[in-house]
Parts: sequence; structure tokens; C-alpha cells
Amino acid sequence: MTTAWLVALSGLLGLAVGSFLNVCIYRMPLEQSLVFPASHCTNCNRKLSWFENVPVLAWLALRGRCRTCHTRISVVYPLVELFTGVMFAWAAWQYGPGWLLISRLLFGCMLIVLFFIDLRHRILPNPITVGGTIVGFILSFVTAPGWVSSLIGLVIGGLIPLLLAEAYLWLRKIEGLGMGDVKMLALIGAFLGWQLVLLTLAMASILGSVVGLGMILARRGDMKYALPFGTFLAIAAMFAAVAGDPVVEWYMGFYR
Ligand SMILES: [Zn+2]
Repeated sequence: MTTAWLVALSGLLGLAVGSFLNVCIYRMPLEQSLVFPASHCTNCNRKLSWFENVPVLAWLALRGRCRTCHTRISVVYPLVELFTGVMFAWAAWQYGPGWLLISRLLFGCMLIVLFFIDLRHRILPNPITVGGTIVGFILSFVTAPGWVSSLIGLVIGGLIPLLLAEAYLWLRKIEGLGMGDVKMLALIGAFLGWQLVLLTLAMASILGSVVGLGMILARRGDMKYALPFGTFLAIAAMFAAVAGDPVVEWYMGFYR
């Protein structure tokens, strides 16, 4: 199969997968089944017909409203589909067919779902963080970063912050880092290896500090307002997966 065909097919598959990710983003925090009932309007409960399930185009054709009750349908739905489609097309072009493509696409899908669920609900569901860590480690036996780096990554990502958090809790009686964040770091370590999970943690911390400082300066939030650290981790991990290797190379260069 020529590359152009592979990229196009992967992009189309990505649009459909994006549609499923929307279901995950909406239903997982409510602990609803991902399969039943079939997609319906969240306001009037009418079951959607096949053409209303067509990614992106349905939203555009309906001008972002339900056909029956005319409730607004969030623009986030088509944006998630579009982003997932572009991600699939880009990854197919970048990696070509193989285990690395499968690994990176699974990881990317998990990051998209975690990004939105943490942003909206401040939770990071275990089926993705813990389940994903296991999947990432298994895949590391057949593709990057290799099982040794993956194992060190999930230990650095998960175990060390977990011990620090426990020590902090024991000393100060307050929770410094959420357990969801720790499990998400283990997930990132399992998929990307130990160097890139450290890069992700550093970038997410900087990003979180900048946004937090901005919010304090804008007097929008008080100090109690919890920032969605998982959302920052998702952005940073996405960057690390795409462009992290040259950054690590450059950094390690200082010690040669
Ligand atoms: Zn409706």
C-alpha cells in the first residue's frame, strides 16, 4: 500500500476513533457503559440516527444543534474527532505501519481522554491510567522505548512520586500530589521510557506554574482552586512523544 493511501485511511479511522473517544470522555466520569445505550442526545434522550453519528460532518450539517430539541451540541465533539483524525494521519505518515504506530496511537488516544476528563472533573480514571500502564509495558517488548526503559520509566513515574507523596502526607498531613497524577506518570513512563517521562514531568510542572501564576495575577482563582495537573501532563506527554528525543539528546550532550 502506498503511503498516501495509508495516511488517508488512518486519518478516516482516526475520525471514527475520535467519535468513540467523545463517548469515553462523556461517560467514563459518570461510570456509564461505553457501549450501551447507543449514542443519544444528552438533553432529549432521542437516539441518534446513523448520519448524526458521522464525525465532524454531522455537527457541521446540524449547525451544532440537536435536530429535535435544538439544544446546542458542544464544539468540543467535532474538535476531538478532527484532532484524533489528524493525529492518526500524522502518525501513519511519521511512523509507517508497525508496532510503534499502534503503541503511539493507543497512547495518544488515552492522553486525549485524560486531558478532557481531568479538565472537566479533576479525575483520572484507573481503567486508563492503570490499564494503560500495563498495555504500555507489554508493548515495550516489541517496540520503543524497550522494556528496560519502560520498566524504569514506570517505576520513576509511579513509584518515586508515590513514595514522596506518602512521605509528604505522613509528615504534613496534606496531600501534595494526587494519586491519579502519579498513576498517569506511570502510564507515561511505561509508553515513553524513563528519559521522556522526566521531560514530561518537568514541562508539565513549568506549564502548570505559568498557568497557575497567570490565574493568580488575573485574580481569577484563589489558592485553593486545584489546577488539572493531568491536563498539563497530557499536553507535555504529547509533546515529548512527538519531539522529546532531540530535546533529551541535546540535554544529555552537556554531560559528554
Ligand atoms: Zn435533543
